[in-house]
Amino acid sequence: MGDHAPHGREERAGVSGTVDTPDPAEIEAARVLFAQECRFVAASATIPQLPAETLPEVAFAGRSNVGKSSLVNALTGRKTLARTSNTPGRTQEVIFFDLGGRLMLVDLPGYGYAKVSKAKQAIWTETLFAYLRGRPTLQRVSLLVDGRHGLKDGDAVAMDLLDKAALSYQVVLTKVDKVKPAELTAMIEETGAALARRPAAHPVILATSSETGAGVAELRAELARFAR
Ligand code: GDP
Repeated sequence: MGDHAPHGREERAGVSGTVDTPDPAEIEAARVLFAQECRFVAASATIPQLPAETLPEVAFAGRSNVGKSSLVNALTGRKTLARTSNTPGRTQEVIFFDLGGRLMLVDLPGYGYAKVSKAKQAIWTETLFAYLRGRPTLQRVSLLVDGRHGLKDGDAVAMDLLDKAALSYQVVLTKVDKVKPAELTAMIEETGAALARRPAAHPVILATSSETGAGVAELRAELARFAR
């Protein structure tokens, strides 16, 4: 993984906490989990359409075009599991996948796409936030942030809500294959500093690339901790 290896706690800057980087056994167990059948369960556009709360859930959130679909596909080793779209902001549903009967992967609609009308954006934001607030099975949100650009306004809104809901979230930098090692280190430092004051933020920032696979095994291991 070279220079783009995910940064464990010992490498992160601007935050403090205990080191619990996944060990090789955890990495392997997570690989096996994510190689299980991943079954589409539901696509819900409104809260009443959400599927029953049968499994622990981990959700993926982020701005439109952050690379969320690509990362969900990379996690599960499938090319077409999550929607990948050339029209960011087009997909507005919350999509549920059952991973081996042990963990629900939840693909949340991307936020902050400028070309969508304000009224439409407001409706999704409401649906998205209603889901985030009112889902007892939801254990963790992976908050995807473009590794080239860092945190944006929309992310701050999402983090405010997650903090308020006391819902654990972890910032996962995407597309780090496009970022030079020194810039990535600076980005991790800067992002870590912004998270330090946020109570529900996980202290470790993962650096991932769906292109190269960097950080993907570590993200699997992090999420596998929530599987039953
Ligand atoms: P989403 O809207 O967040 O689901 O984003 P997508 O997964 O559809 O990706 C948006 C764009 O970013 C597409 O053109 C992808 O090919 C590109 N992309 C996604 N992940 C990566 C990555 O890890 N590295 C690079 N270089 N490009 C990526």
